[in-house]
Amino acid sequence: MIRVGFHTFGCKLNQSETDAIASLFPAELFSVVTADQDADAYVINTCTVTTRADHKARAYVRALARTHPGSLLIVTGCSAQLEADALSALGENVTVVPQAEKSRLLGLPRVLAEALGGAARRRPGEVVLPEAPADAFALAARGSAFRDRAHLKVQDGCDSWCAYCRVPQARGPSVSLRPDEVLRRAIELEGQGHREIVVTGVNISSYRAAGIGLPALLRRVLDGTSRARVRLSSLEPESVTEDLAEVLRHPRICAHFHVPVQSGSDRILARMRRRYLSDRVRDAVGRLRGSKRDPFIAADLIVGFPGESAEDFEETRRLAEELSFATLHVFPFSPRPGTAAASLGPAVPERVRFERARALLRLSRDLASAYARLWVERDVQVLVEGGDASTAWGVSDNYLKVTVDGLPRPQEARGTLVDVRIVSADGGCRARFPRSRT
Ligand code: SF4
Repeated sequence: MIRVGFHTFGCKLNQSETDAIASLFPAELFSVVTADQDADAYVINTCTVTTRADHKARAYVRALARTHPGSLLIVTGCSAQLEADALSALGENVTVVPQAEKSRLLGLPRVLAEALGGAARRRPGEVVLPEAPADAFALAARGSAFRDRAHLKVQDGCDSWCAYCRVPQARGPSVSLRPDEVLRRAIELEGQGHREIVVTGVNISSYRAAGIGLPALLRRVLDGTSRARVRLSSLEPESVTEDLAEVLRHPRICAHFHVPVQSGSDRILARMRRRYLSDRVRDAVGRLRGSKRDPFIAADLIVGFPGESAEDFEETRRLAEELSFATLHVFPFSPRPGTAAASLGPAVPERVRFERARALLRLSRDLASAYARLWVERDVQVLVEGGDASTAWGVSDNYLKVTVDGLPRPQEARGTLVDVRIVSADGGCRARFPRSRT
């Protein structure tokens, strides 16, 4: 049995591509494991969204190459697209497959079987992957070896070129999967028993194919499926139209929305080349709240963007407080090579960037516990991800991590959807099953 270890850095899209690669390995020949275990080969899916992401990927690959000199290391993803030389220099057992060539990994199981399956095991450096047509959707996740929700990639790349972002460089222009193929894959995932499908991409708000956009695509998926709930990866503020809000009212759409807001200062949003100002964020959040009762709305915020004054930061902090997001994903600005912001000034001192990040993270903790407390004595639907003899645990449709008491045979409930009532929210949400006391 050949053991293949997987590690993913970055976003849900990268996770979905790791799921797709892992699902290629037939169980009779391969054992798919996480990369913290010994393996004959490793696939590391990298991210380049911040300088720190590049450094973490390099450190991870360097350590693995040192501790596992006899194993093959396949390094792919966005950092592999833009930092290939630095990564391949980390060990002779490192093979870099840039993001644009990720579909070549379709041939990986056969290559590994030949290289590692036979009596004459080949030395890691000699493994060569077959060429393959560049197809952003060739790798289709058939469920996940690592989690209970299934990812459905519908879009890739980006045409927006925000001033701080390297993603268009790493993933190219925006491309969308044909709606009929999206539906076929959604039905396949539901048919495999997945009770949650995460619609993902780099920027699903820019989905466009066969003359339709995201709202119409979601309607087709909801009309063509019947049981799985649908979670969305992220929504650009300017894409939250009345039409989208209308389809989000569907009961199988999860009450969880992730909005890359980035700043509360109109001056900074303009410098970031974002396509909206703060009032549009307020509108978008208002529409999302109109589509679901108290949805979980997460916001991405960048602090310390070049030129950001104390007043600009205050506007960001005030907007986050005013809109009571359920959590904040906070990124201290890091200049990315090849982006417009890399040559923008004046730079905000690193000390100040991290002070501002800490202030928003403190606010985020307060907002998160306030949001959880909002749900005490209210009902949610939990996708069970695990259980032991007494309790089960999982994630609710509105993205709360919940421990469930009272479920019959909790250790057998993995992958099921259960309706429960949240009974406490101090130090994490606890719920009881059944909802009502008999
Ligand atoms: S929308 Fe902007 S931030 Fe998002 S991936 Fe595209 S360029 Fe990057």
